[in-house]
Amino acid sequence: MITAQLADLIGDEQVSADAEVLAAHRFDRWCLKHWQDWLGEAMDAPACVVRPRNSADVQSVVRFAAENNVSIVPWGLGSGVCGGIEPRPDQILVDMKAMNQVLSIDEDNLLLTVQAGVNGLVAEEAVAELGLTIGHWPQSIGISSVGGWISTRASGQFSTAYGNIEDIVYAIEMVLPDGELVTLGKAPRAAAGPDLRHLALGAEGTHGVITSVTLSLRRQPEMRRFSAWYCADMALGFRAQREIVQQDWRPPVMRQYDASEVNRLFPDYMQDEQCLILLVHEGPTSRVAAEILAVESIMAGMGLNPADAAAAEGWMSHRNTVPEWRDLLEQGLIADTIEVSGTWSQIDAIYCDVIAALKTVHDCVNASAHSSHVYRSGINLYFTFACMPKDASVMGDRYLESWDRALTATAEAGGGIAHHHGSGRLRRDYLHHDLGENGLGLLRKIKQAIDPHAILNPGNLLPPIEAD
Ligand SMILES: Cc1cc2nc3c(=O)[nH]c(=O)nc-3n(C[C@H](O)[C@H](O)[C@H](O)COP(=O)(O)OP(=O)(O)OC[C@H]3O[C@@H](n4cnc5c(N)ncnc54)[C@H](O)[C@@H]3O)c2cc1C
Repeated sequence: MITAQLADLIGDEQVSADAEVLAAHRFDRWCLKHWQDWLGEAMDAPACVVRPRNSADVQSVVRFAAENNVSIVPWGLGSGVCGGIEPRPDQILVDMKAMNQVLSIDEDNLLLTVQAGVNGLVAEEAVAELGLTIGHWPQSIGISSVGGWISTRASGQFSTAYGNIEDIVYAIEMVLPDGELVTLGKAPRAAAGPDLRHLALGAEGTHGVITSVTLSLRRQPEMRRFSAWYCADMALGFRAQREIVQQDWRPPVMRQYDASEVNRLFPDYMQDEQCLILLVHEGPTSRVAAEILAVESIMAGMGLNPADAAAAEGWMSHRNTVPEWRDLLEQGLIADTIEVSGTWSQIDAIYCDVIAALKTVHDCVNASAHSSHVYRSGINLYFTFACMPKDASVMGDRYLESWDRALTATAEAGGGIAHHHGSGRLRRDYLHHDLGENGLGLLRKIKQAIDPHAILNPGNLLPPIEAD
């Protein structure tokens, strides 16, 4: 019924209720869902999948949903890892894949405008041909959409110099839950009231459907160089990284691996159980040369020894290769990564407490971390855990317990519980740690004002309100 009505609105070819298509859109890359699927558990699929071609199609679909009190779930490229997409059988899934056009590249003002469903790598390659770059390199660049980047407040691997997506976005066009179209962001900077782009950034499909995005570009760097350093422990490495950024040097990439990760990911460079810091230096030749000298001086002054720069170059070429959840499950492992952040004063405790907390979970066989995004006031940590229970049916419990212990330990140490993967259904019960109860209440009021009938991705991002 819904399928036929939607086909009338935006065309037969744009709407599908084919069983395979529905099955392919049941969940994103949240590990827990892949485990359930691997166990053979039945999972809900949406009523239908619609593929709008332009903003007008999206408006038609959203208006239809509002008039018929049906809710919709936006799908970018489905690479989210927090359960932001879990459509019910009475919901419409809006797959943005057909909105994949590069609309304009303005070389004078360094602006790129794309339809929101465009693959990130396709967008990057379009501007690379002109000697430009978006400068946003999430590990998932080839499997995620630009609209998805905005929706999840994504971070790229080069963020230390180029910023996260909120620093790169210029304008956002979005269809609101009543079908109205808004364009948020007009000038290079504005003091025209609150920055309404932030209603889309991180909303995870709960405030509207993003239809096009303008990003601010940069010219490709004149020079790129690599360096690498050993440090005796994580605390020393954090102090060295703090000194580098607080002296105002900005290597776009600074990644610090603990000894366990060096052993697993860079075995050829393992030395005396030391931690490893990898740097990529980019920019005008003279600045890169000056930065390398400055970093050498800081590192030597703090007692860090140089490692082979080939370690950083090797990371660069293999950086986006990751195992599929199913392959790990087949090996008896349930695993995930947890990204959090803290100030320089908090980060040592966060590192030690979260590793200790993860190790208390039954069947934990790995708890390790690296840092990858650096700020003047602090840094992120990206924990990896793996559990290997004999009984596959308890993997989900081990998984959720690991997340609970890691986020609770982070919050107790004063850190932020979500650096860049978003909230989804995985983190929604922990959001109060970052927003505070009043902040959470404010977010609910904003949602209620924008989407009073809960048309857009209900159940995502915000924790359900408990019945009295
Ligand atoms: C191997 C791997 C590596 C990753 N590396 C990184 C990384 O380095 N940095 C990082 O930040 N993230 C990373 N991620 C997470 C993920 O890729 C990002 O969250 C990405 O931004 C999601 O984009 P997507 O298009 O796949 O969104 P989806 O997964 O399709 O959707 C994510 C959320 O946004 C909503 N949404 C999507 N498109 C729209 C739209 N047009 N309008 C409104 N709502 C929308 C969805 O409803 C959902 O709630 C990684 C994931 C994987 C699997």
